[in-house]
Amino acid sequence: MDCIFCKIIAGQIPSDVVYTDNKVIAFRDINPLAPVHLLIIPREHITTLNDISEQETMLMGHMLQVARQLAKQHGIATKGYRVVINCGPQGGQVVQHLHMHLLGGRELSGGMG
Ligand code: 5GP
Ligand code: ZN
Repeated sequence: MDCIFCKIIAGQIPSDVVYTDNKVIAFRDINPLAPVHLLIIPREHITTLNDISEQETMLMGHMLQVARQLAKQHGIATKGYRVVINCGPQGGQVVQHLHMHLLGGRELSGGMG
């Protein structure tokens, strides 16, 4: 499969991995928009949030738990952070493998785009 994030999971493209378990991996964004900018992705190739089934609700909850844990580990839990999932062309999704952005370490603008 020609998916950049699947290649990262397979170790075919190097990345700065900060967390891994049997369901998800997290790594630093190559083009960070904040001092902490991590991507949390499922190991399974799921294209967008539109493709999440009822059975995958637990997976999404797990991704949020990992985000919460990583925010703490990276020292941004108390001051605050943002979790973002872009979906589809108008949502600004560029990589077609579901991912959660974890952003923090600076004052983030109040706007939502
Ligand atoms: P999207 O716009 O799809 O929500 O976000 C995709 C993110 O993936 C972008 O923030 C982009 O910088 C990041 N990204 C794209 N290619 C790579 C890569 O090869 N390695 C890493 N670490 N991040 C990537
Ligand atoms: Zn993929």
